[in-house]
Amino acid sequence: MDLLTASGMETAAPPVRRVRVLLPLPLASPYDYRVPDDMELEAGAYVEVPLGPRHVFGVVWAVGGPGDNWEAGVAANRLKPVIRRFDLPPMPEVSRRFVDWVAAYTLSAPGSVLRMAVSVSAALEDPKQLLAYLPSGDSPPPGFKMTDARRRVLALMEEDGPPRTPADLARDAACGIGVIRGLAESGLLTPVALRAQPRPPIPDADRAGPELSPDQAAAADALRAAVDARAYSATLVDGVTGSGKTEVYFEAIAACLKQGRQALVLLPEIALSSQWLDRFARRFGVRPVEWHSDLAGAHRRAAWRSIANGEAPVVVGARSALFLPYPDLGLIVVDEEHEAAFKQEDGVIYHARDMAVARAFLGGIPVALVSATPSLETLTNAETGRYGRIDLPARHGGASLPEVTLIDLRRPDSRPPARHWLSPILTQAMGETLAAGEQAMLFLNRRGYAPLTLCRSCGFRLQCPNCTAWLVEHRLSRRLQCHHCGYTDRLPETCPSCEAEHSFVACGPGVERVAEEVAQLFPDARVALMTSDTLVGPHAIQTVIEEVRAHKVDILIGTQVMAKGHHFPMLTLVGVVDGDLGLGGGDLRAAERTFQMLHQVAGRAGRESRPGRVFLQTHMPEHPVMQALAAHDRDAFLAAEADQRRAMDLPPYGRLAALIISGEDERQVDKLARDLARAAPQGDDLQVLGPAPAPLALLRGRHRRRLLLKTARGVAVQPLLQTWLGSVPIPAAVRVQVDVDPYSFM
Ligand code: ADP
Ligand code: ZN
Repeated sequence: MDLLTASGMETAAPPVRRVRVLLPLPLASPYDYRVPDDMELEAGAYVEVPLGPRHVFGVVWAVGGPGDNWEAGVAANRLKPVIRRFDLPPMPEVSRRFVDWVAAYTLSAPGSVLRMAVSVSAALEDPKQLLAYLPSGDSPPPGFKMTDARRRVLALMEEDGPPRTPADLARDAACGIGVIRGLAESGLLTPVALRAQPRPPIPDADRAGPELSPDQAAAADALRAAVDARAYSATLVDGVTGSGKTEVYFEAIAACLKQGRQALVLLPEIALSSQWLDRFARRFGVRPVEWHSDLAGAHRRAAWRSIANGEAPVVVGARSALFLPYPDLGLIVVDEEHEAAFKQEDGVIYHARDMAVARAFLGGIPVALVSATPSLETLTNAETGRYGRIDLPARHGGASLPEVTLIDLRRPDSRPPARHWLSPILTQAMGETLAAGEQAMLFLNRRGYAPLTLCRSCGFRLQCPNCTAWLVEHRLSRRLQCHHCGYTDRLPETCPSCEAEHSFVACGPGVERVAEEVAQLFPDARVALMTSDTLVGPHAIQTVIEEVRAHKVDILIGTQVMAKGHHFPMLTLVGVVDGDLGLGGGDLRAAERTFQMLHQVAGRAGRESRPGRVFLQTHMPEHPVMQALAAHDRDAFLAAEADQRRAMDLPPYGRLAALIISGEDERQVDKLARDLARAAPQGDDLQVLGPAPAPLALLRGRHRRRLLLKTARGVAVQPLLQTWLGSVPIPAAVRVQVDVDPYSFM
């Protein structure tokens, strides 16, 4: 007789299936969810899950199975079910490992790193399912009130563009979603379903590139071999500006395309010009998929989906492109690898060049680090054999390096007249250049009209109320601005301190002031100003670049936004207004960075058959940076710089990690900084410096203190930091940011 009871049958019911889902939030670990009976989920699947009253997206980090011991977590009957799975290939395993790796390295929450990988959550939706609007063309119903916000939305939609989602419209019109909803309810907007995104066009790897010189061909062979090896390798491509580094790495991209794998090129944001994209298109027939902060709405979603679906063969992007979920990445190129712009300074603090090497290692693929002025970090790795190295010593076509002249601003005969900033030596050279029908460029890495404004009668300086910083006068926009927090104000008519009237004077030059001087000196010259105030985003720069190339501009004046990679055939003179600008301050890389920047600026002169001239105004002509620039002796400079760093155990010969403690209550911030200092790790091969007020002791209304951990090169700083931070309770109102391998000491 069968004795099986009803309750016995119940225990035979299938166990609850669980998944562990990583959410894009700063949580300590993934959360567990129940898999509904009719759903199949594997690791990497993109899902929607409940979180309190909200629905959020997440990625399945692990799938439960027999013996996984998860029962220790949330009881099965309390698990919330996964709501749905998005129609996308799962996030690849290597991408997930990369998220975890970056989180561990930077001591960030894995969910914060995940948010960089899936930064556009609307892209998870099948585009056909997304609600979008077109203007209906109807007249407003009776009683309809036309507000400014509503008018902005309708104005946006007048151009007969594609249908736009409520989120895109709200962002572009700077209004709330409710405004869009209101317009739809009034019948002024018609809902439509978005069309499926077209696939990005396929670059043609078989198109012929230029005929390479023997040096270039050897370099291309080496990179191609690295791609064909389908294994991890890191290679420094070191060559002067114009030596054909880009042509060479294009060959590696072609090899990667022929394997049917994806290639990623990382560029500093401001170098991501359409000049680069056009050049890629000339070589491969089509433009690559772009990824950068200027990319908005529908373009951003389409780019993300095409990458995640494996339909984007080549992606060029700023640092955040590294985190995208490439299903089959076969090559990473980091162009301008020395650029400070690869370091992200807020949120998850990371260096994209270093993370690119880690990504290549995890994926078993090659990475090429490209520069005319490699960082000391990368050069050291090349010297010790951790990285391979390819040299391209000569400029293509024999174009010679520009002659660099140092102008000693201390000498009476080369000093500019009072309240002027250009030496007679430089202005004479500019006159010669213009007379020869050529172009000149003046470089000053300082936005605005004057860096400091003070009262003539009492010396009072105008300071930002939220930051430890002077307000910078911007005469074009008639405002005083803080470059740290964006605070703006009008120039006061009377001094707040001594009440003198119209007593404020500008001290020192910014680019606007140099432009004023140039207009006086060369009234007939056509002048263009290139700064981040006049140009926002990579595509805005384009117009000016086209004008310069078409020779509609005689003199170009700008900050570092104009220094990058642009190729101007008729530009033969470069003047550096203040070569010493980057050398002050307590930054360990000040000399290295100044050298890199000035070298890059100088490299703009004489890129083709006409020889170039560079004039460098300085108060320190004997400084190693100036000497190296004048003598074209980069390696001597780097050797001296390396010796200094080695002697002081500074990177890349030692390691650093910074803690930045900030909060609105200064006493609380100070107390935590002191508590952390008392709990600091101890050991022979490490040292903790601080706490000290940060150079920006006040930033956006928050008080800031810094601690610096300095260790020998071989020490793993993450466990040290973890123990250290875990040993001191951190009040909710105070924030502690961890910056492993800091580049900014502000
Ligand atoms: P880099 O990246 O080192 O600054 P590029 O690759 O931009 O150098 O090359 C500089 C210029 O010389 C570009 O206009 C490029 O098209 C051209 N060039 C480089 N190599 C060749 C070549 N082998 N044949 C023809 N043009 C070349
Ligand atoms: Zn400020």
